[in-house]
This record gives sequence, C-alpha cells and structure tokens, in this order.
Amino acid sequence: MHSVQSLLTSITATVALTLSVPNTSWADDPIPVVATFSVLGDMVKRIGGEHISLTTLVGADGDTHVYQPTPQAARVVAEADVLFINGLGFEGWLERLVEAAPFAGSLVVATTGIEPIAFGDHDDHEEGHEEGHEEGHEEGHEEGHEEGHEEGHEEGHEEGHEEATDHHGEHGAFDPHAWHSFTNAIIYANNIAAGLAQVDPTNAGFYYQNHQIFVNEIRALKAEADVIMAALPIDKRTVVTPHDGFGYFADLYNLRFEAPQGLSTESEASAADVAKLILLIRKQEISAVFIESITDNRLMEQIANETGAVIGGKLYSDALSSEDQPASTYLDMMRHNTKTLSQALGD
Ligand SMILES: [Zn+2]
Repeated sequence: MHSVQSLLTSITATVALTLSVPNTSWADDPIPVVATFSVLGDMVKRIGGEHISLTTLVGADGDTHVYQPTPQAARVVAEADVLFINGLGFEGWLERLVEAAPFAGSLVVATTGIEPIAFGDHDDHEEGHEEGHEEGHEEGHEEGHEEGHEEGHEEGHEEGHEEATDHHGEHGAFDPHAWHSFTNAIIYANNIAAGLAQVDPTNAGFYYQNHQIFVNEIRALKAEADVIMAALPIDKRTVVTPHDGFGYFADLYNLRFEAPQGLSTESEASAADVAKLILLIRKQEISAVFIESITDNRLMEQIANETGAVIGGKLYSDALSSEDQPASTYLDMMRHNTKTLSQALGD
C-alpha cells in the first residue's frame, strides 16, 4: 500500500520533527524522567501520569544495593529532564553512572526533608533513636557512627555516597529504606510533585492534583495499617528478615526486625550473626521468620529448618513485585507487608 514516495515523505517528516521540536515547545510531549528503582518509579508515575515518559533503572524484584548500571542506563539518565533518586546512600552506584554520561537535568532527592534513622538505631529496640547511638555498636560496626550524623541529611547524603560506595550498609550514616514509613512516603510525594512542577510548570496543576489523590490514599492506608498493627500482641513483635529493610516500619509500629545481612544485601551474613539468631529463635524471643523478594532465601530456610520456625511469608522491602504478584505498586506493597506481618504475628 505504501508507495516509496509516501514512505520517504513520512520518514522525512519524522526526522524533521525529532530535530526541530524541543520538548519544551511541544506542550503535550511527555517529559523524559528517570527514577532509580521501582518503588520510587511507581510514585513518580502516580504523580506524573501521561505527562511524563518514565524509565525506572532497577525494576520489579530488582536489588538496588547490588545494581550494576549499564551504558544504556547512563544514556537514558543523560537525556532525562529529571532524575529522581532515593538518596541516603541507597544508590551507591550513582556517581559512577553520571560520570559515564553527565546528567544536566534536575535532580530530585526524594528523601529530602525526612527524619532519617541513623545506622545502628535498629538495634536499640526501644523508642528514642536520638540517644541510642552509644549502645548497640558492640556487634561490630565500629566505624562510621560518630561522623556525619549531626550535619543533617541535606548535605549528609551527598557525602554519604563516597563513604558508602564500598559497603554502604555498614558504613553509611543513615538507613536509606525510608519509604516504609507512610509519613515519609508523603514527603517523597511532595518532593516528586515539586520537582515535576518546576521542570514542567505548564502541567503543575495536573501534578499537584495527582499528588493530592495519592497522598489521600497513603493517609487512608496508614489509618488501616495503624489499626491492624496496634492489635498485635505486645510480646510478638520481633521478626527475622534476611536484610534490614524495614527499620522505618519497625519504628512506626513498635516492631523489632533482626536481619543477618544488615542494611545492605551486599554483605553476607556472618556465622556469628546466624548463630545468634538461631539462639534467639530457640529461646522463643522471635515470633516469625520472613523471606524477601530480593534476597537469596536459602539462609532463612536453613534457619527455619534448624529451629522449627515457620516462614511467615514473603515481604517486599526494596522493590515492587511484577504485575501478577501482590505488591506491584507502592500502596499494594505496604498493604501486603502489613497483612503478611499481622497474619503471622496475630493471635
Ligand atoms: Zn535494602
């Protein structure tokens, strides 16, 4: 049907369009944006809707801690108008990536303005992470605590990257998994909406409208989760997960998570940590053992086998699930985790 002539004409037209129309002058052209990982990507998608063209670097079930940026990822980032990152040292590979292809767009650090949990606080059980620093270090996180806590996270995470590149779980100043607090998720949403509105002011109203709907849904889910978690027995609130991805959720609901791998999946669990966990389970101080979607779960299965502990289900910490699984959006992930924990811990 296509004559050579019409084919040529349409090719010419396409080329001309690409070359001569910059994004800004084409009001309906979605702006190219990048989010570093799936949880953040879902939030950006909720707010940006059809006015953005989103690339998520670490997709569903991917592990951001051990991600290796590809040259193609670097190119996509270099061409983006906005780059959304979590910050707090979560994306330890980011500097390498933007070195490969310089990024000239707008950088939005989603955790800007949250109250970060300093590394080591999870071991302090009780409330009060402010004072908690001095204790709980025995288990061998000698370095890294004293520096960097005071300066506030604004500057904190820029520098955090350097220190954190090698073992950000062990040496980073803060726990990066801040999205597990509903309150923080609202701050993420605020930062995302502001970032999009700044780069694309024409559609600011659209972004803020989506933002409001999303924030309302987060608040409604938090209200549900508050009720469910408050009903859990007070003596059944210690659980084991492979890596320490749930510190903010633990703080919110007075839970305690023990994790043989620590804050990052990059480190291997030590034999001593595993032995300690097995002891705790045998002393019945741990109520349930969970697996995670992003980790190698053989260790958990081994611990369960040795102790007779039941695996309470699968939790999603650092990545959403694929569409056919129960945690493919931020809200579904939070709903699933709340339900899975409460079913395993409830009477
Ligand atoms: Zn993690």
